[in-house]
Amino acid sequence: VTGLEVRGVTVRYGDTVAVDDVSLHVEPGTVVALLGASGSGKSTLLRAVAGLQPLTSGAIAWDGEDLAPVKVHKRNFGLVFQDGQLFPTMDVARNIAYGLGKLPKDQQRARVAEMLELVGLAGYGDRKPTELSGGQAQRVALARSLAPSPRAILLDEPLSALDTGLRRRLADDLARILRETGTTAVHVTHDHQEAYTVADRVAVLHEGRLLQVDAPEALRERP
Ligand code: ADP
Ligand code: ADP
Repeated sequence: VTGLEVRGVTVRYGDTVAVDDVSLHVEPGTVVALLGASGSGKSTLLRAVAGLQPLTSGAIAWDGEDLAPVKVHKRNFGLVFQDGQLFPTMDVARNIAYGLGKLPKDQQRARVAEMLELVGLAGYGDRKPTELSGGQAQRVALARSLAPSPRAILLDEPLSALDTGLRRRLADDLARILRETGTTAVHVTHDHQEAYTVADRVAVLHEGRLLQVDAPEALRERP
């Protein structure tokens, strides 16, 4: 099996079953949204994939390789959270270059410029995070996550701190960027519209259980 495979994953916090025997396949080059109400287990499942959350049982694999022994940084996933993730003392360019330490300086600069262009922020490299709007900061976070060419990116409510109009526009842009770059992604959201916009397939979670996985068109048509 290629790409990401979640096999019978359960995560408990004491008596709470946050994720209940979930199995899910994310094919390379596709975007899967984890959609559900607050408390449905989306964030716990995403953190489990990232390696930030131990599993109670089950397994997570990439291209058939069990990730259990692989530490967070070695998993080669890009992570994007709701907000507050940029290093406040570094300018935008240095934030984006953060994961590029192994590349020569000139290649780092070229990659940063390419990423700024991709997210619509060409010319913003020397701004400080405090000088950015919430939407711009999330674009930078996206650029930083994509810069090292991760095998996939994992996004946890990346647009939820933004107001509705801006969220819609950024969801459109995010969908375009992920498709243009052929990026494999898991996108956590409680917002149906956002899930339908960004994802090729939507996985609906309820109280830790996976209810269904379907294309946005199929879900939209349901009464
Ligand atoms: P979502 O991301 O869908 O809002 P979460 O994964 O955050 O859902 O939470 C799923 C369930 O697990 C909820 O009942 C939540 O209260 C519980 N939970 C999440 N994190 C912890 C934790 N660190 N300790 C105990 N319970 C937790
Ligand atoms: P989110 O909506 O992003 O899941 P929350 O505000 O629910 O965030 O939770 C914030 C933090 O508290 C997270 O680290 C989560 O794991 C933890 N948490 C959530 N629910 C519980 C809980 N019932 N008991 C202990 N920790 C929890």
